[in-house]
Amino acid sequence: MNAPVPKPWIMDIAPYVPGRAQTDDGRKAIKLSSNENPLGTSPAAREAFASASGSLERYPDASAVELREALAAKHGLDPARIIYGNGSDEILHLVAGAFAGPGDEVIYVNYGFAVYPIAIRRVGAVPVIAPDKDYATDVDAILASVTPRTRMVYVANPNNPTGTYASREEIARLHAGLRSDILLVLDHAYAEYIDGEIDDGGMELATSAPNVLVTRTFSKLYGLAAERIGWGYASAEIIEAMHRIRLPFSITIAGTAAAVAALNDAEFIEHTRAHNAQWRRWFADEIAKLGNAGLRAVPSQANFVLVLFEGTLTAEAAYKGLMDEGYIVRWLPGQGLAHGLRITIGTEDETKAVVAILQRLIADARG
Ligand SMILES: *Cc1c(COP(=O)(O)O)cnc(C)c1O
Repeated sequence: MNAPVPKPWIMDIAPYVPGRAQTDDGRKAIKLSSNENPLGTSPAAREAFASASGSLERYPDASAVELREALAAKHGLDPARIIYGNGSDEILHLVAGAFAGPGDEVIYVNYGFAVYPIAIRRVGAVPVIAPDKDYATDVDAILASVTPRTRMVYVANPNNPTGTYASREEIARLHAGLRSDILLVLDHAYAEYIDGEIDDGGMELATSAPNVLVTRTFSKLYGLAAERIGWGYASAEIIEAMHRIRLPFSITIAGTAAAVAALNDAEFIEHTRAHNAQWRRWFADEIAKLGNAGLRAVPSQANFVLVLFEGTLTAEAAYKGLMDEGYIVRWLPGQGLAHGLRITIGTEDETKAVVAILQRLIADARG
């Protein structure tokens, strides 16, 4: 008897590996493996979420008017050009679903976000990996990877898992170098963590150019990863195509209420940004002091730091040593980063503890 056979491109997908919350021996650990907000979420968001329990029997508003209007007001955008979804992960899938298919090529950078190859293969398209430049996005390498079959380019800025940031000039150069029929997807999951008031100009490109989509999320800075609210901004034509294939009710009433409240809690947003900037700087400085043991922090503009282990203490040993102490970070051998750990900036105590554990592991490795 013949069983149903999945499409061959589906079986080529390597399943996504989420950040772990437990140690190998099943203890609940301090989770610095998924870039969540260590300060929690906005108290106003928590309250809005709780009050939504009165309407569990109702379908959400399929057109998400409240969310779109709140986002448009905050960011100065046209609400009609906002798409929303079950986390920005869904938006990343929707855009591939609408703009790529079998035989098409889609580019992303080496050490890019793990969802891209899944979204690309899911629609039967071919992932093309552009080489990095010392872990950072290399615009020339992306442009050199373009062929007549290229349909899309995904760039996370800042990038995950490297934390690196491509400047406004670099993003403008990338956009200018792409054919106008190639859709540039700028994934701004960590945009709120960039130092100062600078930005990469992505939202301006999404506003004015016909071939740029920016995606954003409530999962990181806003501390609402559990509620799965993401959104995107692009031309009316791009957004309209994506609407045709999205799930009608992909975001929930409670999640929407929490997101709108979080958006307007300026105090929590500032507190989170200041905390992250302070402890990211401190952490990178401490790693730099361990340079003689072969540790190196890749410059980060996100809420995590990729630490490379190029000395006696290996990333794998450090990963296990941290886990023994109850700290789970991200080791990514499957992404070509067997020599690195991506470490989320935690609370002050957590961040200091990680450094202390690394210092001890280095001393132990020296014997
Ligand atoms: C975390 C993350 C996302 C989004 O996650 P959602 O929770 O689905 O919004 C998107 N892109 C990158 C690069 C991320 O790290």
